[in-house]
Amino acid sequence: MSTSPGDARSLSLLSVVVPCLDEEPVIRETHSRLLSALGISARINFEIIYVDDGSSDSTLDILRELQRSDERVRVISLTRNFGQFSALTAGVEHAAGDVVAIIDADLQDPPEIIPEMLQLWQQGADIVRGLRSKRGGESWFKKWSSRIFVRIINMVSDTKFTNDTGEFGILDRAAVDAFLDMPETRCLFRGMTSWVGFSQKTYVYERSSRLAGQTKYSMRKMIKGAVDYTVAFTTSPLRIATWAGSLSLVLAFLGIICTITVRLLTDEWISGWAIASVVILTMGSLNLICLGIIGEYLGRTLVETKRRPLYLVRERLGFTPESGDK
Ligand code: UDP
Ligand code: MG
Repeated sequence: MSTSPGDARSLSLLSVVVPCLDEEPVIRETHSRLLSALGISARINFEIIYVDDGSSDSTLDILRELQRSDERVRVISLTRNFGQFSALTAGVEHAAGDVVAIIDADLQDPPEIIPEMLQLWQQGADIVRGLRSKRGGESWFKKWSSRIFVRIINMVSDTKFTNDTGEFGILDRAAVDAFLDMPETRCLFRGMTSWVGFSQKTYVYERSSRLAGQTKYSMRKMIKGAVDYTVAFTTSPLRIATWAGSLSLVLAFLGIICTITVRLLTDEWISGWAIASVVILTMGSLNLICLGIIGEYLGRTLVETKRRPLYLVRERLGFTPESGDK
């Protein structure tokens, strides 16, 4: 959908991808807000692709019902919970639109903003990302840990991340295709769509709390996500072993000089098990940490070489060959 500068882009179809895991309390409201934001107020030609990521409540039943009542609704049901990023990829792969919008199912991100993001797309932006000026419903820990994480990863990675952004946003077909061409199986949506380049813009908005239900991200999942991002976007941690080894070599050299000097001046060897234990424990821990870091990279290399599919589909509803059925 690239146009020459100055040309206003015209939209023939917008695909909205909504990943859903146990969103029974909110999904009907999300659907009606999406319909009124796109259909009534903005009069956009659209399809909504709900991806059920192995919900254990009645989310899938509600989605089937919504699909029966509206032919613009498509439903992809995955065989189990594959994670938000796999669900997003499933939706994006099935999207037929020339622009794809990504939005969570919990109404933390207002659907009414999508038409405004589309205006930025019409003016030439290929990727528009929601930038949160307020982050309602997020714990103090989540806000600060993500802030610190983005700062650190931006120092060591070539791909730059914007703090206070999530998956909410829209992508032009060219950016979607570039993303889908990436062969990685570990789909880190925000990172990969930053990496592809193109003209990227942000749209500032206030993020509210979840309308209902619980966040699906426990502390353990957030830490795992941070490790995944680090391993996927920088190899700098692998150099920690080199730097720590070089530093300890210098310290060891100074220690040898110091020991010999004391021996020559006082005719005695420096003694004491305490200092010896501290050195042994420090070096042992450093060794284990470095082994762990190498293990993280090696483990992910193994996962990539297996080439397993990112997700498996149990059921597709509402797709026709023309609407992007794969
Ligand atoms: N989600 C999903 N699979 C998962 C976890 C989450 O499809 O394994 C969906 C979830 O239903 C929601 C979106 O991803 O639509 C974001 O999840 P959540 O609101 O729990 O994340 P938070 O906003 O707390 O970071
Ligand atoms: Mg949420």
